[in-house]
Amino acid sequence: MNIKMNIEEIFSKNNIELKKEISLAQYSTIKIGGKAKYFTIATNSKELLKILNLAESNNVRYFVLGNGSNVIFSDKGFDGLIILNETSGYSITNETIQKKEFFAPPPRYSTEENNVFAGENSPGAKNVIVKVDSGMRLQKLMKKLFKQDVVGLEYFAGIPATVGGAVYMNIHGGAKYFSEFVHSALLFKKGKTRVVTAKYFEFEYDWSKLHETREVLIWVKLKLLKSEGALGESLAINWASQKSIQPRVSAGCVFKNINKKEKDRLNLPNYSAGFVIDKLLGLKGYKIGGAKISDKHAAFIENTGNAKAEDVLKLIEYVKEKAKNKLNLDLELEVELVGEF
Ligand SMILES: Cc1cc2nc3c(=O)[nH]c(=O)nc-3n(C[C@H](O)[C@H](O)[C@H](O)COP(=O)(O)OP(=O)(O)OC[C@H]3O[C@@H](n4cnc5c(N)ncnc54)[C@H](O)[C@@H]3O)c2cc1C
Repeated sequence: MNIKMNIEEIFSKNNIELKKEISLAQYSTIKIGGKAKYFTIATNSKELLKILNLAESNNVRYFVLGNGSNVIFSDKGFDGLIILNETSGYSITNETIQKKEFFAPPPRYSTEENNVFAGENSPGAKNVIVKVDSGMRLQKLMKKLFKQDVVGLEYFAGIPATVGGAVYMNIHGGAKYFSEFVHSALLFKKGKTRVVTAKYFEFEYDWSKLHETREVLIWVKLKLLKSEGALGESLAINWASQKSIQPRVSAGCVFKNINKKEKDRLNLPNYSAGFVIDKLLGLKGYKIGGAKISDKHAAFIENTGNAKAEDVLKLIEYVKEKAKNKLNLDLELEVELVGEF
């Protein structure tokens, strides 16, 4: 019997709709990519676990997709199952934590202005633990929590991530890393789930242990603050407006910021890869096919309308080569290339 038929039948018998040959461009913020051989959507955690179990037990190669804001899918697509994570439950729990566990850095910068949370010092402010499904869109979560006077995530305003993607990448906003808010999480791999604490993730800049293990985050508990929702919301609006110049038809910063050693060696005023690409390499606006180094922010590559993944890749290689030849600098990718390149 045909293997394809088997997989479709198995999923169908388990009430999971498996679509075929779905264009992935529509599921990535940069709007690039070929087709997924199989595609399905998980709308709650139970369903997500069921899909993962079915895929693993039937040896189906899979990729869990959040909001697609840090991926570039190959023009050849993905020869397996894309699981679009649209789980979106959340609850403000009654769990309590010790003050000393709260907002435990290391902070992104050792000294930083704007490092106070909305209402952190307000009388009556208290710590809360919020449990969130991994497919929850961060911006939606923030808005819902502000209405319930729960704050803390405002520095991530304007970042088009799901909570799962935010943990996987340890996103950064303002002076904060997402890891500073992670309390514990439920992970899945090889048919098993387990709860881990924040320490397990070994968070670093743009990195969590999930890069290595490829475990799937099902839910996460976040350490937040019950305080002044209106204040949180106004801070969030302020941050989002600062980010509004960033090109949205992109995958965010393509390259990681440089480290302190390279910053000092090159005598730069900041760590920004965008600064290097713009001021030192003069590549702002440089274009290959439909892919362009953004005029607004040189660490971003924009899809000007009809870009292919191949154009983006050529542009990435061009920038890397210039940085190496001119500055002896190895720029590292922040975005993830998915599929065959
Ligand atoms: C306009 C724009 C602005 C941005 N600004 C910022 C910024 O200020 N700071 C910043 O840090 N980033 C920023 N980004 C990058 C991006 O939003 C983040 O990297 C984000 O974390 C990606 O989340 P996602 O849900 O879109 O993940 P996806 O792109 O869907 O996936 C990225 C990776 O996460 C994995 N993943 C997703 N969900 C799970 C899960 N549940 N379990 C395990 N692995 C999972 C995927 O398998 C994949 O490997 C920006 C991007 C854009 C387009």
